[in-house]
Amino acid sequence: MLNLSERDVLVNWHPYTQMHTAAPPIGITRGEGTLLFSEDGRTFIDAVSSWWVNIHGHAHPHIATKVSEQLRTLEHVIFAGFTHAPAVELSERLLKLLPENQSRVFFSDNGSTAVEVAMKMCLQYWFDRGEARTKIIAFKDSYHGDTFGAMSVSERSAFTRPFQQYLFDVVFIDVPVVGQEEQTVAQLQAALATGDIAAFIFEPLVLGTAGMVMYEPAVLDRLIKLCQEQQVFTIADEVMTGFGRTGRRFACDYLHQQPDLMCFSKGLTGGTMAMGVTTCTDTLYSSFLSEDKTKTFFHGHSYTANPIACSAALASLDLVEQDTFLKDLARISASHQIFAQSLQGKPGIKDIRQTGTILAIEFATDTTSYFNNLRDTLYNFAIDSGVLLRPLGNIVYVLPPFCITQEELEKVYAVITGMRELVVESFSA
Ligand SMILES: *Cc1c(COP(=O)(O)O)cnc(C)c1O
Repeated sequence: MLNLSERDVLVNWHPYTQMHTAAPPIGITRGEGTLLFSEDGRTFIDAVSSWWVNIHGHAHPHIATKVSEQLRTLEHVIFAGFTHAPAVELSERLLKLLPENQSRVFFSDNGSTAVEVAMKMCLQYWFDRGEARTKIIAFKDSYHGDTFGAMSVSERSAFTRPFQQYLFDVVFIDVPVVGQEEQTVAQLQAALATGDIAAFIFEPLVLGTAGMVMYEPAVLDRLIKLCQEQQVFTIADEVMTGFGRTGRRFACDYLHQQPDLMCFSKGLTGGTMAMGVTTCTDTLYSSFLSEDKTKTFFHGHSYTANPIACSAALASLDLVEQDTFLKDLARISASHQIFAQSLQGKPGIKDIRQTGTILAIEFATDTTSYFNNLRDTLYNFAIDSGVLLRPLGNIVYVLPPFCITQEELEKVYAVITGMRELVVESFSA
């Protein structure tokens, strides 16, 4: 009889995977806390929270209980003309945690749709007022999703090249990493001076897919303020940073300025169900109120505000609101810092970056031609050591579920130390 892995390769097409050369996928039969168990008897520490979604650990009993209760009560109902307790309660509780100016919640299915919704709201706002504000500003290396609108505001690369002619024009500005702040501020000012800007979308403080590229809250405050002076909407894409990742509940909790719109997904349901959320200010919401039916926001998905997804998000919020939540974030941040210090100045290390529970280590490698080879070597090295880490080129990052123990963290660090040695032996300049 064939096992899961063997049956999979006959029928499935996996994301971001060159199916011709990829190794067969590992069949996972069970998850518990930070651990994943495979059909061939191996155990893996999920040090990337399964693509950044799983914040409380796998198969969390509290989320499981709440979801199964909801399944027996109401699995789904159309969200146009109807509502239900999980959606109402989730919006009430979420808005209480968000910056004061956030006043409305729009549900969708994932991070990309949350971004699409945010951009469509802004573009329609200006369209309805008859003002020719049609352009969006974004950071050069950003990632906002894989649908066409989200691709348009993301870094243009080999990933988007086949679709280039279908992507709309975007004004890209540099990420304001330390030392680059003034340049980015000037670029934003120049873009705003054109007068045709509808919105500015950004990943607050950490650009995930770019390789955990980080910048300071102070410069983001300045950028938001400049946009506000021109009535340009600001969209904080907190799809990755939301729900504790940066050491606070939201990356925007580090800011003095408040974005007009916010996008969430990934950690929203604790990694249990696919769901996206876009929140916005009352100013934006109210502008759609009209006797004129054409001013409606004509957007929706079949599973909008699915009650099961909402119940998973509510159960996840129960955990996010516990005292132990912020303590876990502080514990992981402190642990990362100590490990980062131990790597400082060692051969093979080009850069070390940390924001809260995110630790990224950029290895010094000779040429970019080794990237693919290096990436696969590092990935396999981690897997063989029982740790799931997915390097982005020469950058390895740790983005763990918040229940990860010190012992598990030490094991992850040991693997990274092993990676450094590998780099020095085989890939260094
Ligand atoms: C992952 C991600 C998205 C896209 O979310 P999906 O659920 O994968 O569509 C958008 N923005 C950011 C910042 C992300 O990290």
